[in-house]
Amino acid sequence: MRPINIPQATEWVCPSCLTSAFGQRVVSRLRTQRHRYPYRRNFASSVPRTKEAHVRDGKLPDYPARTRFAPSPTGYMHIGGLRTALFSYLLAKRTGGQFILRIEDTDQKRFVPGATDRLCEDLQWAGVQWDEGPGVGGPHGPYWQSERNELYQKHAQDLLDDGAAYRCFCTPQTAGAGTAAFVTSGCYQDCSHISPSEAAERAESGSDKFTVRLKQPENVHKRSYPDLIYGNIKRLKRSPAASTVGDESSLDAADTILLKSDGTPTYHFANVVDDHLMKITHVIRGTEWMASTPLHHDLYTAFGWKPPVFAHVGLLLDKEKAKLSKRNADIALDVKGLREEHGILPETLCNFLTLQGWSNPNKDDVMTMDQLAQNFDLKFTKGNTMVLMEKLWFLQKNHVQRRIEQARNGSKTALSDIVDKVTEAAAKIYPEALSKHGSKASLSKYCKNILLADDKSYQTATQFVERNWYFFTYGPSYINAPPQTSPNSDFPLREDAQALASSFLRDVDAARPYLVSSFETPNPSSNEAALARPPTDLERASARIHAYLNEAVWHRVLPSGSESAVNVPFTDQAIDRVKFAEAAVEDGAKREEVLQAYKAWQKALMRFLRERLAAGTPGPGIGQLMAVLGYEECCRRLGIEAVEGGGW
Ligand code: GLU
Repeated sequence: MRPINIPQATEWVCPSCLTSAFGQRVVSRLRTQRHRYPYRRNFASSVPRTKEAHVRDGKLPDYPARTRFAPSPTGYMHIGGLRTALFSYLLAKRTGGQFILRIEDTDQKRFVPGATDRLCEDLQWAGVQWDEGPGVGGPHGPYWQSERNELYQKHAQDLLDDGAAYRCFCTPQTAGAGTAAFVTSGCYQDCSHISPSEAAERAESGSDKFTVRLKQPENVHKRSYPDLIYGNIKRLKRSPAASTVGDESSLDAADTILLKSDGTPTYHFANVVDDHLMKITHVIRGTEWMASTPLHHDLYTAFGWKPPVFAHVGLLLDKEKAKLSKRNADIALDVKGLREEHGILPETLCNFLTLQGWSNPNKDDVMTMDQLAQNFDLKFTKGNTMVLMEKLWFLQKNHVQRRIEQARNGSKTALSDIVDKVTEAAAKIYPEALSKHGSKASLSKYCKNILLADDKSYQTATQFVERNWYFFTYGPSYINAPPQTSPNSDFPLREDAQALASSFLRDVDAARPYLVSSFETPNPSSNEAALARPPTDLERASARIHAYLNEAVWHRVLPSGSESAVNVPFTDQAIDRVKFAEAAVEDGAKREEVLQAYKAWQKALMRFLRERLAAGTPGPGIGQLMAVLGYEECCRRLGIEAVEGGGW
């Protein structure tokens, strides 16, 4: 007699349950195998616990988790699918386990050609790389269910042999009004009582089509099934609307089909067999699958297998608490659309989706994939999750900022995909920019500089280009526009600012020697990480422009004769205006007057420059703005003739 696999330790299998699940015959056979029934209450408690395991109330297994993503290739990957994949992936990474990709393609009617390739592409783009699965292989393949039929046949036969399943010869019935769901799928001839030998003969003769059904264990409604998020879950009763015939309990007693009459497995059967054979320890999936979980547990019991830990995560809802769908979203909800239409970065999307339903223990929500993997655990929020798209844009800005900082640090590739998108959008929205720059390559360099200058506002390429419109288009109407800011009597007049800007632009000379030590520190308003690296060309140019501007303002406000005392232009002192004034003006009261004038002039000059160079639009600081535009373009916008050799 073939040995029966006995259930591994779980807290919910007991001898009496086994009897009701398999019948006395199987249980007696188990007894003759002299196996002791497992009474260990908790599998994890038998494994030595490490310190790690206590993280957040034991919300992590203390062994390497094997998880899987098991999509049916029926279309583009929705963000809900990617979220489930991410949770599973991150759990595997966090615990040093493996993440498996399995394609559940048994239902050929729903099969969409090319969908598997797209799925793999989307996962790879997101950085969710599987350790076993299509294209990678692994010890438990094949990883397409359509190629595993022999395994399902064998396992169905095992259940038939054990009396836990039976062949059903009922053909689908024509449904009466309101009876469709159940009558067409139920066994109405009591096939479980056909003797196994007669059933096998009828099956072998080939004349009768049959399905294989699981014998439903008794008292299923009294049982509850463990779920990591929902505690114990109960079997759902079929809704009375599903049928008007028979009493409800008989409707519930439908024995689920495991193998269809064409010999292919149902989702439930293939899913459980594969999760077991692939040694999956944790199944994380959407609550839409929760109704199937009792049946899956029954199947594990029927086989005598230890079930994985189940965690059902809530649905993603919109602000009106409706299921997030294409119709009610103002943004694409499939991975391809988010990446191609909206330019969402993979790290943005992974960060965003992981935060939907997982309760992050950290204050900082902005995390790279590596940081997510270091922090992830199984503390999920119960119930559905309302998705706030504002968060997506917040994360996108932050991740783009990170990439920009990597580029400033010398990375040649960190910004390339973003730069390409911005260049494309700029060429499309402002064709004049492309003709001005002469080539895509040159426009692309320019766009990169704009990104380096304006690092905090990027959401999408189009939004970025539109926000920074004045870098791409600036006709005579802007240059000649009347002043927007009315001259204030406290401040120097516009004409003065114009004269100052003109003198500044005439005097700036790229070949002029500098005391550059002060410019070697990048923009001090940048973050701390920036201070640890050498400045970029743009930062250096911006610092020089500011120094030039300071010089011009000092020239304007210092009493004549005092300039030589402080060696204007360009000592390091020019950067610290108080020290500079101290050195230049002895008389304290006079010095205060000079300082006030300096501030007023500087402010007026900056305002004037922003108005003339960017039509008053807020954006990067004046230094960066001028550095990106370049000397010639600044002269053009200010209506000043460029000087030979001028620049910064
Ligand atoms: N094939 C199912 C799906 O498409 C898998 C459900 C599960 O994770 O068990 O979502």
